Amino acid sequence: MLDEKLEPIYADVLRRNPGEVEFHQAVHEVLDSLGAVVAKHPDYAEGALIERICEPERQIIFRVPWVDDRGQVQINRGFRVQFNSALGPFKGGLRFHPSVFLGTIKFLGFEQTFKNALTGMPIGGGKGGSDFDPKGRSDNEIMRFCQSFMTELYRHLGEYTDVPAGDIGVGQREIGYMFGQYKRMTNRYESGVLTGKGLTWGGSRVRTEATGYGAVYFVERMLARRNQSFDGKRVIVSGAGNVAIYTIAKVQQLGGRVVACSDSEGYVVEENGIDLAVLREIKERKRGRIADYAKARGAGATFVANGRVWDVPADVAMPSATQNELNGQDARTLLKNGVKAVGEGANMPCTPEAVRAFLDSGILFAPGKAANAGGVATSALEMQQNASRDSWSFEATEARLAKIMHSIHDDCARTAEEYGAPDNYVLGANVAGFIRVAEAMRALGVI
Ligand code: NDP
Repeated sequence: MLDEKLEPIYADVLRRNPGEVEFHQAVHEVLDSLGAVVAKHPDYAEGALIERICEPERQIIFRVPWVDDRGQVQINRGFRVQFNSALGPFKGGLRFHPSVFLGTIKFLGFEQTFKNALTGMPIGGGKGGSDFDPKGRSDNEIMRFCQSFMTELYRHLGEYTDVPAGDIGVGQREIGYMFGQYKRMTNRYESGVLTGKGLTWGGSRVRTEATGYGAVYFVERMLARRNQSFDGKRVIVSGAGNVAIYTIAKVQQLGGRVVACSDSEGYVVEENGIDLAVLREIKERKRGRIADYAKARGAGATFVANGRVWDVPADVAMPSATQNELNGQDARTLLKNGVKAVGEGANMPCTPEAVRAFLDSGILFAPGKAANAGGVATSALEMQQNASRDSWSFEATEARLAKIMHSIHDDCARTAEEYGAPDNYVLGANVAGFIRVAEAMRALGVI
């Protein structure tokens, strides 16, 4: 049940955004936490401040026509939701996946607003993407699509306006094609307009690794509060993309054993630990499937087609693929098998029922908007380097990332305690993020 002041706000969100269930879910989760805030500080419920936070500043939808390798014209839909720029230029990734529609991008943009606030850096929240499916497309097709996408999007971007990055289906290759087209159309080498760039053309060291590394730093700090560490722990990670791969890398560096990972077709278990070099070769270079990994590893690894990776017993689970990939039943299985901590590397991967089960059980639970903020934080570091025409070392950049993640963790923990729910990082993250955005919005007036 939401607070009585917040219930009508939520009803309005449902009415104005029909069918956008992930957006409803993301708003509900934040409003649920804000009950404690408006009880303590009723002024936050005034001036339609919360209503304004739930309404994007601008939503852009556009046609993306392109020609495939057979000479056929294809049409996709492009989106950019510029959610909130109270703290800085809109900032957030682009997702290319066939499931993308306006509701997906809105939920991600809403989450991004609070996540970016939690980093303490001067970045607002936005998100974009397309229902384009990159799977099976040639390099030339990807390039033509990215160029067409940017031919419309460029007019809405700028290093002081809106700065996209990658997300599902968008990595350095796609950022490169989009940056190239932006440069061509504007006749400006405006490095700070996109992040996730390659090192030789304005990228930052550690950006590729940042989301996965950051999520592990967050969970490491959480475990430390209970005098535990990753050393010797059994870990499962879902997905096998950017976030999953660098989550596995950092867990291994810290002495953990990652025994399973997945993609949308199934999962692989390897009791001796996933071989990261083989996984990277298959996923990053060959753009292959997790089933290919199992084949390459032979007898030591087992592939379970269409199975649920959450059935594999583990001390720590790191969902790092996509939204709502871990449901209430999965949560109960994990808890039955003795899971001690769950860290969301993906955005909203646990359903509300799963989150409730984790919180009720008293295990450690790190919500994505805090735990996966390392990616966008390092994007902001990339913007800093672009603005000062500088390039930092790996060590210096990683040290900054670790410091930011520790400070996000401590902020969430402190806020949760202040609002009477110690160890509830969901409440801590939502409230700490909200207060930062709300204060800036109040200062800037009704705009
Ligand atoms: P990638 O495209 O690199 O990898 C995504 C992985 O998730 C793939 O293994 C993919 O499998 C799997 N996946 C995607 N959709 C589904 C689905 N519907 N069902 C099952 N598995 C699926 O994306 P990222 O690693 O960049 O992103 C993963 C998550 O992390 C997303 O929620 C994203 O929003 C979040 N995130 C990413 C950040 C970043 O810096 N990249 C920053 C913060 C959050 P398959 O190949 O079979 O589709």
